[in-house]
Amino acid sequence: MTVVNMMETLAKEHLDRHWDHLGMPCSCITCRNDVLALVLNALPPRYVSTERGQMFVKAALDEQFRVDVLQALYRAARAVATRPSHPVAGQNG
Ligand SMILES: [Zn+2]
Repeated sequence: MTVVNMMETLAKEHLDRHWDHLGMPCSCITCRNDVLALVLNALPPRYVSTERGQMFVKAALDEQFRVDVLQALYRAARAVATRPSHPVAGQNG
């Protein structure tokens, strides 16, 4: 049995779903992971240990934390877009 951070699962889903709307200058795996890391640092972890717990927590989080996750996602995207961890073609500095 593994312990899963449902916030991570949810954040990844939102990242995939909304990536095209974030206006990122670069879509490489590094930038995606940078955004995901910032999102997860901004959100409280929600660990569950069973599959049933995952489904329950996911349903609850989906409703309750949708706005929080989205806000964190857009904030993180802005931060990474402003200061990518690698040079991006067409950007100054
Ligand atoms: Zn990149």
